[in-house]
Amino acid sequence: MLTGTLVNYYTHCRRQCWLFYHHINMEDNSEDVRIGRVLHELKKQDKKEIALEGIKLDKLTAEYVTEIKKSDADIPAAMAQLEYYLIVLRDKGIMRKGRLECIEKNKQNKSIHTLTLTEERMGELKKEYRSIEEFLNSDVPPPPPKIKPMCKKCAYFEYCFI
Ligand code: SF4
Repeated sequence: MLTGTLVNYYTHCRRQCWLFYHHINMEDNSEDVRIGRVLHELKKQDKKEIALEGIKLDKLTAEYVTEIKKSDADIPAAMAQLEYYLIVLRDKGIMRKGRLECIEKNKQNKSIHTLTLTEERMGELKKEYRSIEEFLNSDVPPPPPKIKPMCKKCAYFEYCFI
């Protein structure tokens, strides 16, 4: 079953998405991951996180679904995750706009990003989700692409390049 995290990883790096889906887990003790875990725990303690099938919403208001990220390192991947949440909710008859909040603003000049799903975009996304599911069912992962700066922070770095 597809999840918001898988859609995020698929946008970020297809190889990472495949490895994660197939439970090839590497212990990642990087600073970023530790901060992410703490953030996740705080959200749980705050009882604001809402879990539905395949999605965990940081906040749900009458107008927005809000996703909170530690940084703005990969806005397209975070927005893809948010779109997935909007689609899952829409399928349940819950219409919302998306709101992404980045705690650290390093690459962008704003920390809040919003999105509204159009009918056309929904059609495109449904097709894309079917392709992601087919991709995940393949027997082997895609080969590592050329090394990118993001790879140095990735838990799979050694698996891919050493
Ligand atoms: S190290 Fe790079 S290529 Fe390998 S999974 Fe991570 S992001 Fe993808």
